[in-house]
Amino acid sequence: MGCTVCSDINDSVEADVLAQQRLPACVEKFEDFGYYGDDLDAFHLLKCPQCGAYFGRHDWDHFEQGGAVGVRVERIGFAEAAEILEKVVEKIKDAEWLSNRYDVKKIKKELARLKMDGT
Ligand SMILES: [Zn+2]
Repeated sequence: MGCTVCSDINDSVEADVLAQQRLPACVEKFEDFGYYGDDLDAFHLLKCPQCGAYFGRHDWDHFEQGGAVGVRVERIGFAEAAEILEKVVEKIKDAEWLSNRYDVKKIKKELARLKMDGT
């Protein structure tokens, strides 16, 4: 697709945090629209600031259960992005600290836009 920001991610990337693996640097440039889940499994919606592509980010920490600590970023479509944002908006209702960290108006605006564009 030729985007200079996110073209390092074809489909998805995954990193084993305990093994010191890192995601491509471009992920740092993505816009973060908040997340739902908990400390063990958190699901973020990210967006490329240049081309507007959406990415789902899953952070997991299953160390206590004998599992791994990792992160995965995956290219997703409008429908999936809307699904994540709906859950984020739902979570923000009863998580004040989250609404302090993220711009709730921006998140809701993005969700409304996704619903208009999306299929
Ligand atoms: Zn891009």
